[in-house]
Amino acid sequence: ALTIGIVGLPNVGKSTMFNALTKNNVLAANYPFATIEPNVGVVPLPDARLTRLAEIFGSEKILPATVSFVDIAGIVKGASEGEGLGNKFLANIREADAICQVVRAFEDGDVVHVDGRVSPESDIETIHTELILADLQTLEKAVARLEKESRIKKESKPAYDNAVAAQKVLEEGKTLYAAGSAAGVDMELASGLGLLTTKPFIYVFNLDEDQLADTALHERLAASVAPADAVFLNAKLEMDLMDMSPEDQLEMLEGFGASESGLDQLARTGFHTLGLQTYLTAGPKESRAWTIRQGWTAPQAAGVIHTDFQKGFIKAEVVSFDDLDAAGSMAAVKAGGKARLEGKDYVMQDGDVVEFRSGL
Ligand code: GDP
Repeated sequence: ALTIGIVGLPNVGKSTMFNALTKNNVLAANYPFATIEPNVGVVPLPDARLTRLAEIFGSEKILPATVSFVDIAGIVKGASEGEGLGNKFLANIREADAICQVVRAFEDGDVVHVDGRVSPESDIETIHTELILADLQTLEKAVARLEKESRIKKESKPAYDNAVAAQKVLEEGKTLYAAGSAAGVDMELASGLGLLTTKPFIYVFNLDEDQLADTALHERLAASVAPADAVFLNAKLEMDLMDMSPEDQLEMLEGFGASESGLDQLARTGFHTLGLQTYLTAGPKESRAWTIRQGWTAPQAAGVIHTDFQKGFIKAEVVSFDDLDAAGSMAAVKAGGKARLEGKDYVMQDGDVVEFRSGL
């Protein structure tokens, strides 16, 4: 499964947020064969369509898609020097599919800031610098190797040029994710070299309660990290929300001028950043969202349920959720001519409710 690694300076609220995240593991334990490591938080992707499907089909259970977050503990300043914890820290980041940095924006005289003052911009810069330095080290070796290679084989020249272009971006103090494509770096090649800053970044700004409705602040912070996604939450409040009923949660959030919990925002953003989407299945047993990559075909999607479904794929019977919702039952959608039989080249669309026909 794809995972998002959580990083950040000490005392920014990582553990607090992570504790809120792991309260969801109770839910994830409902999944068959799911084993959950202690440093992994599994967050359900909120999806109101599942509630409606369960109503239409009389499903016993609802199983939303999930996003997994890994707590990457460890000091960060000096990590690129590769000593002890630093090495482990970088190895953990290497395994993650995206990087989520928690950034402190809350002011609290009782909570010490490692640099003595609260500055989201400089916190972000500190983490970027470590990752950029680690990448520059990786590149130093790669460039030397590729230079030699390209003198013998001219096919290696593009890889060498690409490594040099990546080096230039990093030397300017920018991450490859933020600036690589615009500078003409082939991101896939760069990622193949194990460069960490090619990974998508998400920034979680941990705010004071009274900053939660401060949209001007949110806009300023979001602009400072664009094109990466930004999420705004209060980690302590997220902890409290986890112990409340959905109705109480909503009331509490509305009191702070928010319509959705920070963790819901984070799940949605994580999904988007990883380039994922869902399709839906429904029946009396369960209504369920399945995770696929954007652009996957019907047989690839079927393979997420079972590899036999992919191998023996014949057809997918597809209705769109909106049609089903409007019609109120599968029989009514079919009577209205809105059910489609799709073949092996069909590209899955958001909101597809599917039944696969398989010959195995
Ligand atoms: P970590 O070192 O990044 O894991 O940070 P912790 O989650 O351990 O938080 C450090 C301290 O900040 C703890 O005392 C938390 O209670 C406090 N803290 C975390 N989030 C918030 C917040 O949103 N507002 C305030 N005022 N304090 C917070």
